[in-house]
Amino acid sequence: MLVDTHCHLNMPPLGDDPVGVLARAAAAGVGRVVVPAYDSASWNPILALAAEHAGVHPALGLHPWVAVDEWVAAARTSGMGGIKDHLSRAVASSSTPVVAIGEIGLDTKIDTPDLPRQRDVLAVQLELAADLDLPVILHCRGAFDDLLAALERHGGRLRGVCHAYSRGIELAERIVGAGLHLGLGGAATRDRARLHKALPKLLLEKIVLETDAPSIGLQDVPPEQTEPRHVRDIAAAIAEVRGTTIATIAEVTTANANALFHLPV
Ligand SMILES: [Zn+2]
Repeated sequence: MLVDTHCHLNMPPLGDDPVGVLARAAAAGVGRVVVPAYDSASWNPILALAAEHAGVHPALGLHPWVAVDEWVAAARTSGMGGIKDHLSRAVASSSTPVVAIGEIGLDTKIDTPDLPRQRDVLAVQLELAADLDLPVILHCRGAFDDLLAALERHGGRLRGVCHAYSRGIELAERIVGAGLHLGLGGAATRDRARLHKALPKLLLEKIVLETDAPSIGLQDVPPEQTEPRHVRDIAAAIAEVRGTTIATIAEVTTANANALFHLPV
């Protein structure tokens, strides 16, 4: 069995037919999907999906792209403490266990990145993850030094995944050294991606698989057509580069995901 550790099942087009998406995933051997939130408006729809469908595991958090807006909204009522309380109440309200705080992180490559504000919003969410002993699902572009410094403040006690990893071996080793797993997706299928050269050298025990559907494509699949079932193709691409079998990649990465997110086995 395979696990898609990052899929936006609540977003269109996936959200229009979750039953079909999950059936096609199951037919491809992908039996579990972790669904990370984006903004606070997505929390309840994601919890509802998880309550309704077996094998759907929710993660709640605030994405760096909405950090400023969410901060402004929270500041109007109760400031940064408000964000932490709001998120913590949402986690506690779920009828199915919330398996991670995510997706959260830092992104300097958007139009108007307010990095200080992103750092603040990230910091309170890392605090909550530490309080609740939950892993984090991290989105990071252009701010890996900042991200690793934020994790360092928790003295290596936080676990989680650096999602959609697409870079080389040096950064991968720093991220793994900080106690994180690497989330490998569509980039692993593109032979021109920087990641490709690093693939044979990565520690399999630190890899989990993901699609980030419908945001990231595979070599032969455009983003809007990706579904959790494509985790099988990602596993196949990694197996080929590493000279091993899909079964081996599936076995180890699924065990990694189950352990990381404390999924029921
Ligand atoms: Zn995502």
